[in-house]
Amino acid sequence: MSEAEAKQIERMKALLTAQKAAFRAERHRPLDKRKADLDRVADLCRKHADAIAEAISRDFGNRAKQESVIAEIAFVIQDARHAKKHLGKWSKPRRVGVPMTLMPGSAMIRREPKGVVGIVSPWNYPFQLAMAPLIAALAAGCRAMIKPSEYTPAMAELMKTLLAEAFEEDHVTVITGGPAVGEAFTKMTFDHLFYTGSTQVGRLVAMAAAENLVPVTLELGGKSPAIVTPGYPTDSAAKSIGWGKLFNAGQTCVAPDYVLTPKGTESALGEAIIKVAAHQFEDAATDDSYTAIVSDRHYARLNDMIEEARAGGAEILQPEHDADAAKAARKIPPTVVLNPPADCRLMTEEIFGPILPINGYTELDAATEYVADHDHPLALYVYSTDKTQADRVLDNTQSGGVGVNINLLHLSVPDLPFGGIGASGQGAYHGEAGFMTFSHERSVFRTGKWHPSRLLAPPYGKMYESVAKKQMK
Ligand code: NAD
Repeated sequence: MSEAEAKQIERMKALLTAQKAAFRAERHRPLDKRKADLDRVADLCRKHADAIAEAISRDFGNRAKQESVIAEIAFVIQDARHAKKHLGKWSKPRRVGVPMTLMPGSAMIRREPKGVVGIVSPWNYPFQLAMAPLIAALAAGCRAMIKPSEYTPAMAELMKTLLAEAFEEDHVTVITGGPAVGEAFTKMTFDHLFYTGSTQVGRLVAMAAAENLVPVTLELGGKSPAIVTPGYPTDSAAKSIGWGKLFNAGQTCVAPDYVLTPKGTESALGEAIIKVAAHQFEDAATDDSYTAIVSDRHYARLNDMIEEARAGGAEILQPEHDADAAKAARKIPPTVVLNPPADCRLMTEEIFGPILPINGYTELDAATEYVADHDHPLALYVYSTDKTQADRVLDNTQSGGVGVNINLLHLSVPDLPFGGIGASGQGAYHGEAGFMTFSHERSVFRTGKWHPSRLLAPPYGKMYESVAKKQMK
């Protein structure tokens, strides 16, 4: 560990102590203050939108500005507005019934802030994936420390500056650094730890949190399938799948990872997707609206995956592009891979790039069985004009979320909880689910000075026997 990292770790420990003290001094942050916190987040997005988009683009080599505006900045503004609008309803105590045998009394659930939370965020949407959990934490009345990814240093530094301008450091703060800082961060005794990133690191984070019994949310990845059912119009499937796969050059946790389509339709669908790509980007290599791959390491990995599939006999489709310019810009052209071998990395690892394997199936049930045989994905997409058939696909599979005849956008519906299941994660956020992630449901049973339950205490008599008899029914 470098000296700078060691210093950073000391600093974050001191900040955690300061945040905990500040939380104790204001355990129940009033709603008007929380609403002002949410406004501050939305305001910094509006005021610094250009700087945010530029920082992300610098980190990626090129990130389409339109993608940063819609998927990061506007997303965060809308998320903050939604939380502000519904905060009153979400935070209201809930009254629940009391059984006759426990009367008289009243019971209620108070939704209280957990305290100081840690947020670890990845590089692929470096602003949204740090700020959306922050919004949920602020809405719940928590204080937060954010550890962004080391792969997007410009965005991390800007986020640190903007949040330092908007919040006291004992309320919200950003800790920069790589895996060593991340590891130390996840070992701290937060009141909740919220991690977004790979399944591999997620496992380590879960273990670190378990040491201190820190509750943890894991927003992980996986291979999200798109299943095209027989008879679904090829052009319509291609437009939707092509758009979702190429957004942010496939570096999206819920991007369609691979396609299952009826046997014999693979080529037509693959060619239609390449046509969509050619329509979206005149030349992906030089078009600024096509995003680059975040690092040389990720770029080499994706190229290796294509070459492995090619060597295994798969057919590779790409639109016309300037190969030298693509390489210089660290861009992988939109790539469709027809029927790759089952054991190649494209079919065994999350791709996280603009490469789409298409496989044929003989029966729809065989497609759902393939999905069910693998780790539960973060998202599953089904393309079908027949509701019964689409529902059958849902009934025979499990996934974090679902899009029917659409992809990616289920995560933009604010009241849909967003999260994985099994290897794709645990817990959820967005909307009320996010508020609940950072809240503790505190149960309160209130009675008067005297309560008949006192008659149940030893020495046991008739009262006890009559109540116990009733309870055993
Ligand atoms: P990553 O796991 O490499 O890094 C995520 C964060 O963890 C970074 O801040 C990193 O510094 C930190 N980290 C690294 N090693 C650590 C350690 N040992 N202990 C603690 N923290 C550590 O993930 P990534 O490559 O940035 O992101 C890509 C992955 O994230 C993909 O698998 C993708 O599917 C997933 N993802 C999931 C979602 C979701 O919402 N479910 C969203 C985006 C990305």
